[in-house]
Amino acid sequence: MESLERCIETRAGDFTERGCSFLGCRVVVCGQINNVVHLVHSPIGCAYYSWDYRMDARGYCFTTDMDEMDIVFGGEEKLLKAILKAIDEFNPDAVFVYETCSTGIIGDDIQAIAKKAYELTNVPVIAFQCAGFRGRSQNFGHKIACTSIFRFINNENRKPIPNSVNLIGDFNKKDSKILEKLLNEVGIRVLCTFTANATIEKIRNMVNAELNLVMCSKSSAFLAELMEESFGIPYLEVNFFGFENCCNSLYRISEYLDANVERVVEDASWIKMVTDKYREKLEGKRVFICHGAQRAVYWIKPFEELGMKVAGIATHFGIELSDFDGLVVDNISSDELEELIAKLSPDLIVSDDKVRHIAHKMAVPFFNGRGQNTGYAGFEGFLNFAKDVVGIFDQKIWRLTRYDFSL
Ligand code: SF4
Repeated sequence: MESLERCIETRAGDFTERGCSFLGCRVVVCGQINNVVHLVHSPIGCAYYSWDYRMDARGYCFTTDMDEMDIVFGGEEKLLKAILKAIDEFNPDAVFVYETCSTGIIGDDIQAIAKKAYELTNVPVIAFQCAGFRGRSQNFGHKIACTSIFRFINNENRKPIPNSVNLIGDFNKKDSKILEKLLNEVGIRVLCTFTANATIEKIRNMVNAELNLVMCSKSSAFLAELMEESFGIPYLEVNFFGFENCCNSLYRISEYLDANVERVVEDASWIKMVTDKYREKLEGKRVFICHGAQRAVYWIKPFEELGMKVAGIATHFGIELSDFDGLVVDNISSDELEELIAKLSPDLIVSDDKVRHIAHKMAVPFFNGRGQNTGYAGFEGFLNFAKDVVGIFDQKIWRLTRYDFSL
């Protein structure tokens, strides 16, 4: 199998906690798209992570609930019935059908069923061949999601809209709201944030952008690359986390598009003054980052801008960091994470909710880097971020708890 995954292979014996291709496709990339029915062609267990992992997951999710008889005799008929019923009851803009390990192994032809359902209903049905065993990790699922959606938007009749972009690889609705507003202020129109605010209509309109801005290259550069090859739309990798990163990204965008960056940066200078005040409280504190590739890398600078030091970084993807001289661990398991926290004894752990209980168990302050209630991207987001980080240390509980790291 062609493998252009952006992920280091898991070695035999690793106690890996990486997600499968299905998770990368269904939960990470496609989960946020509005008014779509997600139909997981699987036994019920594969749909377990439908909602709780991503805060902005939307739409309806169902499984075909494959049982032993279906595995023996095939589940194509059951799948077709499920698609037709979902369309009839929920009137979605599209149905996304996901292959999983069991239905991939028995060879159900989900592409043929999707085509048949489309012919019967005229509602787009996209089949993702993302069985968990395909590829090395969830990263292959990102690729499958991007290539399948690209085939869907492939449109010869591109009519470029002046000064327009797509934000690709932003999966957080709160961040996308802030960024769309910010880009509007500099005079740029966002056609689609893929997938935080995506709808089928917005996805189809993506071909008309002048520039693609890639927020998370591990998950979504695949789509930007395909659009560059096919439509000649250039793309730029951007980072809107932290004041400096945000300024740099805006100035880089202004090399491609007509953007009034200086005025917007100047207007935001008060935010820098406020966050510099917070710095006095945070100076010298050590933070340990455990995130997917994008946030693991992107959080370094914002924490440094708040006077904090990054004690170490753990991810599930294998990242290369040329300008970071601290400890970087790939493919970390929960046990290894506990060991590392005990060893590094950081003042703060930043991760997503999966790690919260480990941090709390070890009496280390925890910060949800995905932004539980507010967005952290852009200037406005950096202010939210600084406030929330200071807020964690203001909680009295951390002065009352202590963990014996020698245990
Ligand atoms: S059975 Fe396969 S597709 Fe389902 S969750 Fe497990 S690895 Fe992923």
